[in-house]
Amino acid sequence: MSKFPKMNFHTHTTFCDGKESTESMIQAALAKDFTRLGFSGHCFNDFRPQDVEVWCMSPEGTEQYIAEVRALAEKYQDGIEIFCGVEQDFCASTSTEGFDYVVGSVHYVEKGGMYYCVDESPEILEWSIKEGFGGDPYALTKRFFEQEAEVVQKTNATFIGHFDLVTKFNEGNRFFNSMDQRYRHAALTAMDALMETGRPFEINTGAMYRGLRKEPYPSVQLLKDLHERKGEILLSSDSHDGASLGFAFEEIAKLAKEIGFRRVKVLSKDGLEDFIL
Ligand SMILES: [Zn+2]
Ligand SMILES: [Zn+2]
Repeated sequence: MSKFPKMNFHTHTTFCDGKESTESMIQAALAKDFTRLGFSGHCFNDFRPQDVEVWCMSPEGTEQYIAEVRALAEKYQDGIEIFCGVEQDFCASTSTEGFDYVVGSVHYVEKGGMYYCVDESPEILEWSIKEGFGGDPYALTKRFFEQEAEVVQKTNATFIGHFDLVTKFNEGNRFFNSMDQRYRHAALTAMDALMETGRPFEINTGAMYRGLRKEPYPSVQLLKDLHERKGEILLSSDSHDGASLGFAFEEIAKLAKEIGFRRVKVLSKDGLEDFIL
């Protein structure tokens, strides 16, 4: 087994809410000596939350996205291995067929036919806690993790995206205490359920490169819990621009090793492969 290659499998482009084109992302990856790059455009959110146009791919855009990624994979085949994936939202029921892999993610908490976005802004999170959950942040986090527990089943995820995304705007425990038993119980119940799927959890540095969080998703505490359960990991930077590709991977690999992880999953043509962390 060798050390993990330079890669990233959680990557967005202008087909959804990314800032750069597919080709520009490939060039950024090549400049960083990546040998593998996977695109994971946000699936079309057919459940129609209010901000549907803002950050997911349109149905037509999804077709164009697949065609473009496939064409560029061929164009750059001698320099880098390109994968065409999708970041499938828990609430969506669009098909995941035709993609090389699926990132399974919860971005919305559904309650009574309303979809409350947890990663749009602190204001929307605050409003959601008040309007949807009677002002109780732990009621919202409980519902979030109930959905998270079923994310693999619902999306057929190859790996689990940002397990505790609900903490995106919670730096300094702004909305809830992530060591409170109500939060811990909900998160660990979901983790236990997901352990049975055998799918790896990504360690996602997306909120770190944006300066929103000092820790990755999942938090250091939850990574310790995951290691205790013999969970498996995969590194991802949830990049929306070329500069952030592979953000803090060395630092995160070091952290994961300190926690006790020894191996990391990397996507290959034949599925997930083990590498040394
Ligand atoms: Zn996401
Ligand atoms: Zn993403």
